[in-house]
Amino acid sequence: MSDRIKEKLEILADAAKYDVSCSSSGSNRKNKDQGLGNTGAGICHTYTEDGRCVSLLKILLTNHCIYDCAYCVSRKSNDIKRAAFTVQEVVDLTINFYRRNYIEGLFLSSGIFKDADYTMERLVLIAKKLRQEHNFNGYIHLKTIPAASPELIHEAGLYADRLSINLEIPTDSGLKLLAPEKNRQDMIRPMTYLKDQLMKTREEKKLFKTTPKFAPAGQSTQLIIGASGESDQQIITAANYFYKKFQMKRVYYSGYVPISYDNRLPAIGTAVPTARENRLYQSDWLMRFYGFNANEIVNDNHPLLDLDIDPKLSWALRNMDRFPIDINTADYQLILRVPGIGVSSAQKIVAARRFGALSLDNLKKIGVAVNRAKYFIRCKGFLQIYTDKRTDIIKSYILSTSTSKYVGSANQQLQLF
Ligand code: SF4
Repeated sequence: MSDRIKEKLEILADAAKYDVSCSSSGSNRKNKDQGLGNTGAGICHTYTEDGRCVSLLKILLTNHCIYDCAYCVSRKSNDIKRAAFTVQEVVDLTINFYRRNYIEGLFLSSGIFKDADYTMERLVLIAKKLRQEHNFNGYIHLKTIPAASPELIHEAGLYADRLSINLEIPTDSGLKLLAPEKNRQDMIRPMTYLKDQLMKTREEKKLFKTTPKFAPAGQSTQLIIGASGESDQQIITAANYFYKKFQMKRVYYSGYVPISYDNRLPAIGTAVPTARENRLYQSDWLMRFYGFNANEIVNDNHPLLDLDIDPKLSWALRNMDRFPIDINTADYQLILRVPGIGVSSAQKIVAARRFGALSLDNLKKIGVAVNRAKYFIRCKGFLQIYTDKRTDIIKSYILSTSTSKYVGSANQQLQLF
């Protein structure tokens, strides 16, 4: 690799690290025609401590940008080294790294060179060359440039496994404040187009086996947390809306890393809100897999997530009138709501209780975190004895028997507005 390419790689991989929406889940592109790679079994995702994914070659095509979004390291007013790959350079890097077993795919984002289409054309060309000239069957995630034309987005979907359009700032007022040149509609339009195309492809596939793949791992987006003063209620409500309205595969949360002296933003040196980011991911999980509505997790009376306890425990403590539940008779959906019981344990409980009433010991064997669950359940030989205790006492019991790696960084949420 030439020194110049190495230098570009350093600059453009470093600039890409702020984008967390790069997990390679959800696709099953198989190797064909003795091509290179596949996205099925064997893809493993490596995450660094702060949640960044490192299993893909994650780079920007360029960190030049015509925009000046205050929260972005690539903004045009930022005095940094700039670089840009050519289309062929990204193709060569991907193939070389894949052959050396360094990566399992490509995550490609970009600053905006001239305009949206000029940049998007290059991103599409890279994916097209990889697929058509190199028969590359590895994972490709392309970042869609806001305001790019539907034709280009359509073409991108034919070659990429996943497409994403980052919302970045969760509310319109926050976006206006920090990126006044950007228009939310430029993000919404391609999301709508993608959702429609994904649905259309699904329908056509039922009729014609030969329907070409279109972004089989769907679309995702990213929200930056803590750059502006949104409450968790605003963030979770926005995420919930985008899941439902645009059938997002994932909404990623990225704690803002202070990089600017701009007084619209948290000062340099302010801690990255990793605990908050983690609690948002847990809330996201509750909505996607546990049947919680957004307003059960956060609402006008409880607009901020607790940082010292997870959102499921927080909900249970606010709803003690629903507990204890009898583990041997309660509905599956209710069992899922017990702190200390995950999806797989809940399924095992429902299956196992058909053969006899379950005791606390049985639950332990199934994998239930009994030190949490016992405050919220009854089961054979065990009558929950804490209903008359105050929730703050139950909380302190639970906290004294469990530790969170995020407690140390459970920093206060910002109030900028
Ligand atoms: S348009 Fe994208 S790359 Fe350009 S400054 Fe804004 S966030 Fe950064």
